[in-house]
Amino acid sequence: MVTPNNGKANGRFAAGIVVLCAAFILVSAPSTWAAELARHVFLFIGDGQGPVQVEAGRAWVRFLGEEPVVDSFPVKGLSRTECAGGGVTDSAAAATAMACGVKTVNGMLGADPAGKLVDSLVVQASRAGWKTAVISTMGLDHATPAGFYAKGRRRNEYAAICADLAESGIDFLGGGAFNAGRIKDGGVESSVADLLKKRGYGLLQMAEGEVPRGRLPLWVSPAKHADGGSLPYAIERSEGAGLRRFVQSALASIPEGERFVMIVEGGRIDTACHAGDGGAMVREVRDFWGAVEEGLVCLKSRPDTVVVVTGDHETGGLEFTRGAGGIAVLQSQRVSGASFSKSYGARTGRTEEDAFAALEASFGLKRSGDGAMLLSESEQDEVRKSASLPAQLGGAGCRMLNARAGLLFRTGGHTGVDVPLFAAGTGSGRFAGTTDNTQVASILRELMGLAGAASQAGAEAP
Ligand SMILES: [Zn+2]
Repeated sequence: MVTPNNGKANGRFAAGIVVLCAAFILVSAPSTWAAELARHVFLFIGDGQGPVQVEAGRAWVRFLGEEPVVDSFPVKGLSRTECAGGGVTDSAAAATAMACGVKTVNGMLGADPAGKLVDSLVVQASRAGWKTAVISTMGLDHATPAGFYAKGRRRNEYAAICADLAESGIDFLGGGAFNAGRIKDGGVESSVADLLKKRGYGLLQMAEGEVPRGRLPLWVSPAKHADGGSLPYAIERSEGAGLRRFVQSALASIPEGERFVMIVEGGRIDTACHAGDGGAMVREVRDFWGAVEEGLVCLKSRPDTVVVVTGDHETGGLEFTRGAGGIAVLQSQRVSGASFSKSYGARTGRTEEDAFAALEASFGLKRSGDGAMLLSESEQDEVRKSASLPAQLGGAGCRMLNARAGLLFRTGGHTGVDVPLFAAGTGSGRFAGTTDNTQVASILRELMGLAGAASQAGAEAP
């Protein structure tokens, strides 16, 4: 073995290697990225999941003795969410940004502000032979899921959105049902379920604790659903009926070896935050994170997988100051504020006594005794004033429990704060730092080898 005997020459030799290596890294970095291709893509969207929803979710799952799954992601960043023109986004514009890589105006799906149609990465993937899945706790024609297939629709054009869905080529639909009632198909009135059947979809229903598996294309519907086709709040359904089951069902139904892209929305985080319902919100975050775990399980066995978890915007202007009772007091809540108001409103007697009894049964708030759950004099006054007003009483119950947990919703709407983004697997490093929500689409397209896919949309929005 020959070893250099001149120290100086040896030093120059080493320096030369360093320069060569640096040059190689500089030249090869972009092509290394380009060569980094994923065959399995998960995009998890927590609707309304801002930084404080994540923080409250962490506190809640730790209280339950679990570890927050998002903290196990190697890449953590932030995503900017403003809509076209720079305002606070709604779910339609945010979904269009993440699905199509284009900023648009609020209320718009699958088109730019001028009305030009833009393609979703899911529809592009389907054309390129990928298997595709869209799963949500909301109705599947609601803004976020619809952003991945609707063609230039306003978010409330449910019938037209469902017609787009039936032609989208999406292989697996799961979670919610639909907002759309009866729709016209070739001049004939039909239900969305009938329309999907006509297009070859198999229909299966999610049974408690089961993982339905079938031949694609497939719609796995919920056993029970709430208004707008959404799943009931997690606080009102069992562990066995969670969002996770629908992801498992999709994974069981997609044939082994196929490339797939899966969009999974935890949509009721947003509705809980609009309602100022902290107890429902933390359970929705936990349910959503349960689905996220399935993505990481897939990554473990299939390294050519990328998992991205983010939000579309923050909802509620949430603050979390960890109140005297701590997040643990939220375990006293038995139903969502909305369901409380509904069932309380259906009662015949709504006396002050009824109001106090109902608040104790559903929120654990008491008129006598001591401890964190004891109602103050001013709170008791508020209960008396709201005794005949179900919506107001439900709102008061949530607010009083939130205060004990240290949660405060400063608005009933969305805010413009950057939302957390977590990524793992193939090419996940590209999501580090602060990115724009349109980059969710552009980076995933590159990782899927779809970046050069020509848009076949082109035409003006109807
Ligand atoms: Zn919202």
